[in-house]
Amino acid sequence: MTDATKRYVYSFQQGDGHNKMLLGGKGANLCEMTQIGLNVPPGFTITTEACLEYLGANRTLPGSVMQQVREQMAALEQMTGKGFGDAHNPLLVSVRSGAAMSMPGMMDTILNLGLNRHTLQGEIEQTGDERFAYDAYRRFIQLFGKVALDIPDELFDEPFEAIKHREGVREDVGLSAENMKEITGLFLEVVHSQTGRPFPEDPFEQLELAIKAVFNSWMGRRAIDYRREFKITPGMANGTAVNICTMVFGNRGNDSATGVAFTRNPGTGVNEFFGEYLVNAQGEDVVAGIRTPKPIARMRTEMPDLYRQLEELRGKLESHYHEIQDFEFTIEKGTLYCLQTRNGKMNTQAMVRTSVELVEEGLISREAALLRINPESLEQMLFPRLDAHAGATPIACGLPASPGAASGHVVFDADRAEQQGRTGKRIILLREETKPEDIHGFFASQAILTSRGGKTSHAAVVARGMGKPCVAGAEGIEVDVTARRAHIGDVIIKEGDLITVDGTTGNVYLGTVNTVEAEFTDELKTLLSWADQAARLKVLANADIPVDAERALKYGAMGIGLCRTERMFNASDRLPIVLEMIVADSLEQRQAALDKLLPIQRHDFIALFKTMAPNPVTVRLLDPPIHEFLPSEQQLISDLKQLRHLRDSLRGAEILSDTISLLFPNGAQGGSGLPQVIRVADSSLVDEAIDKKEAILKKVRSLFEVNPMLGHRGVRLGITYPEIYAMQIRAILEAACECHKQGVDVYPEIMVPQVCTPEELRAVRKNVDHINKQVSADFGFSPIFKFGTMIEVVRACMRAETLAKEADFFSFGTNDLTQATFSFSREDAENKFLPLYNESGILRDNPFEVLDTHGVGKLMELAIGWGRTTKPDLKIGICGEHGGHPASIRFCHGIGLSYVSCSGPRVPIARLAAAHAALLQPTA
Ligand code: PEP
Ligand code: MG
Repeated sequence: MTDATKRYVYSFQQGDGHNKMLLGGKGANLCEMTQIGLNVPPGFTITTEACLEYLGANRTLPGSVMQQVREQMAALEQMTGKGFGDAHNPLLVSVRSGAAMSMPGMMDTILNLGLNRHTLQGEIEQTGDERFAYDAYRRFIQLFGKVALDIPDELFDEPFEAIKHREGVREDVGLSAENMKEITGLFLEVVHSQTGRPFPEDPFEQLELAIKAVFNSWMGRRAIDYRREFKITPGMANGTAVNICTMVFGNRGNDSATGVAFTRNPGTGVNEFFGEYLVNAQGEDVVAGIRTPKPIARMRTEMPDLYRQLEELRGKLESHYHEIQDFEFTIEKGTLYCLQTRNGKMNTQAMVRTSVELVEEGLISREAALLRINPESLEQMLFPRLDAHAGATPIACGLPASPGAASGHVVFDADRAEQQGRTGKRIILLREETKPEDIHGFFASQAILTSRGGKTSHAAVVARGMGKPCVAGAEGIEVDVTARRAHIGDVIIKEGDLITVDGTTGNVYLGTVNTVEAEFTDELKTLLSWADQAARLKVLANADIPVDAERALKYGAMGIGLCRTERMFNASDRLPIVLEMIVADSLEQRQAALDKLLPIQRHDFIALFKTMAPNPVTVRLLDPPIHEFLPSEQQLISDLKQLRHLRDSLRGAEILSDTISLLFPNGAQGGSGLPQVIRVADSSLVDEAIDKKEAILKKVRSLFEVNPMLGHRGVRLGITYPEIYAMQIRAILEAACECHKQGVDVYPEIMVPQVCTPEELRAVRKNVDHINKQVSADFGFSPIFKFGTMIEVVRACMRAETLAKEADFFSFGTNDLTQATFSFSREDAENKFLPLYNESGILRDNPFEVLDTHGVGKLMELAIGWGRTTKPDLKIGICGEHGGHPASIRFCHGIGLSYVSCSGPRVPIARLAAAHAALLQPTA
C-alpha cells in the first residue's frame, strides 16, 4: 500500500480492540470500551506503524498522517458539537502515548491541547469559569513546553511555587483566577525566552508537534531503560501509538472529580474496590502525588450516585476482560467517563490470590490462572518480612504501597542511587515524590520511600510492578534534597544512614531490623497443586543436608535430584578425618580414615532419606578433585615458616593454645582440647604439627594439576581409589537398610559424576553389586535403589547409547556440560569476558544461567535419543543450575526429560514453569 492510501488512524468506533501491536494497549482498550458501550470520551488512535515509519524516516511523519488526523478531528467536531480552534466553543484534546506493552509513566502525555489566547476566551465563555480556563491553559503550556519543546520542568515549577508561597497556599486549589492568569503570563514568557519564539497558537501545529513528541518519547531514556529492564523486545511492543481523545475535566467544580482505581486490591489481591480520587482536580494530580487523594470508599458518602455508577463500571470491566483492571476515570459535572483501562499490575501475592479466586468465581480456567503468573515472579513471595519479635519502634508511617521489607542506606536522588547501587551498596531511595525520570533510581534501590502521594502514585505503581517494597505518603517525613537530609520531628536522617522500610505495614525504622522468610500462602499452595497436575516434568531439589531438604520439601520438591556428598565432608568435625584419608601413605591408613567416615556418612544419609521419604534421593559419589579439601601450598609454606620460627625462637616460652589453633584451622593438628597455655619446650606438639604440615605439603605438591577441573576428579577418583567410593556406597545402602528397619521406606539413587566411558560406569557398578550383596546379607534385606550416571562431559553424550546399558537413569550436569561445550571456565568466564559477550550481542545470554539450547541443548537431545534407543523408558533429568530457570525448563520439557532438579527456593518457580511448559507445548 502506498503512503498516501495507507491507513494510520482509527477512531475508537473503528479500531480492533484486540490489535494491541497496531493500536497499543491503551488505544485497543479505548476502542474496545467504546464498542461495548462504556462511556469513553470520543477520540482516535494513530498507529504504532506510523511511529516506526516516523522514527525510521529521520523523524518525519508519513505524508498522509496529518491529513487522516484532520479527517478524524472533523469527525470529533461533529460528535462533540465543538470546533478545534473555535474561539467560542473550543474542542480540546489530550494526546497520550500507548505501546503494546504497558509502560506506565515512561512516555509522554499532553492535556488540554487546542488552547490559545482565542480559544481560552471561548472556554471562559462556555464554562463561565475564568479560573478553571486559566488553570487549564497554564497546565497545557507547562506540559506542552516540557514534552514538545524540551523546556525543563523546574523553569515552570519555580515561578509557580513562588506565587503559591507569596499567596500562602499549599495546594494549587487555593490559587485565584488572577493568580492563574499571572502564572499563565509567566509561563508564556518562559516558553518565549527558552525557544526564541512565541508559544504556538495554531491548534494543528500544536497537535502535530505533540504527536511527534509522543513518538519521540518511545526513544527517550526512560522508555529505553524500562524496556531493557523488563526485557520488552520489538516482538512484544514496537513503537508507541498516539491516542487523541476529547478532553473531559475533573476540575470543573465540586461535582467533578478524577481518580484511578483497581477492580481489586493490587497489594493483597483481596476482592475489594480499591482506588483513590480527588474532587475538583485533573487526572495527573492523582498520579503525581501533588495532592494526597482520598480513598475510593469515601466517595460512597460524598457522591453516592456516582459511586454506584463506578461500582457498576468496575463489575462490567472485570466481567468483560476476565482480568483485574486498573482504570482511570473522570467525573465532569456529574457525568462519569472511563478514560483508560489496562490489566492491573499487581505484586505476585495479589496475582496468586486473584488467580485462585477468579477460578473459584468461574471467570477463568485453572490453565488460564496458571498462565497468568510469570514463574520467575514467584520469587517475590519469598520476600522477607520484618521479624515481629524484633520489637523495633517505627519512626514514621506511610501508606503500605508495595509489600516486603528491606534495609539500606538512604539516598535522596535517583542518579546517586544508581551510582551507589553499582558499588553493591543496598539503597533506599527517599524522595518527596517520584517522577518517571527517577526510574533508574528504582532499579538500583532495595525499596522506595516517599513523603507524598498515595497508593496509586508513581512511586507505588512502579515499585509494585518491580516487586520492590514501597512506603508512600509518609507525611511525617520532611525531605530536604539540597541539604541531603530528612527530618522526622527531632530525628534527622542524613544521606547514607541506614533505615528499614516495611512496605507491608507502611512503617519506617531507623537502622536495620531483622527480617524473616515469607510463608507459603494457602492460595499459592492451591495454585502450585494445580501446577503439579498440569505439569509432566517432576521437580526435585538439589539439597545436601537435612535442613535444606526440609525447606525443599516445604517448597514442594518431589525428591532430591542431587546431593553433593563433598559438602558433607567439609563440615569441621569431618575435615580432619578427610585429611587423614588424603595424606594416607598406604591403603591401610586410608581405610582406617574411611572406617571413621563410614558411620558419619551413614548417619547423614539416614537423616536425609528419612526427611524425604518416600521420595527418591539421588546421592552423587565424591566429585571434586581431592586437593580441594587441602589448604593451598602458599598457606602451608607460610604456616610452616611460622611454626619453625616458633620452635626456634620461643623455646621455653609459654604460648597460648590459640596461636597453635590459628595455625591449624579445622583442627588439622589432629587433636582437640589443648590446654589453655602450653610450654613449648616441654611439648612435642609443635614438632608434631610441623611433621603433619610437611606431610600435607608433600601431598599438595604431589596432587598438583595444571587443569584440576579436567583432572583427577569424579569417577576418576572412584577408579583410582575404589575404597573411597566403596565407603560411600556402603553408607548409602546401610542407611537404606537402617531406615527400612525403622519402618521408613526410602529410595536412594546412586549417581556417578564425570563419567565418559561405559567401562568407568561398569567398574563402579561392580563395586556397588559386591557391596550390595554384603549389606543385604548383613541386614537380611535387599535395599531398593537405582544406579545412574551424570551426563556432564561431551563424550558421555556421544556414548549415551552404551552408557544406558549400565545405568538406570541419566542426570544432565549442565554446569560442567556448558563448560565443556563452550570451553569456558565456569569459575572465571562470568567475571572476565562473558559480560562483554552479552553486552555486544555475541552471546545473548549467560550460558551458565540460561541453557544454551542450540549447543548444549543439541547435545542433550542427541544423548536422550541415543540413551532411549537402548532403554525406551530411561529416566532422564537435569541437575545443573539451569534446572531452576523457566525458559530452560520449557526446553527440558520439550526434549522429553522426566524431571528437573534445582535449588530449594527455586522449586516453586520450577513447578509453575513446568506447568507452563506442559500447557504451552502439550504434545511434547
Ligand atoms: C553440573 O556440573 O551441572 C553439576 C550439577 O555438578 P557440579 O555443579 O557439582 O559440578
Ligand atoms: Mg558437575
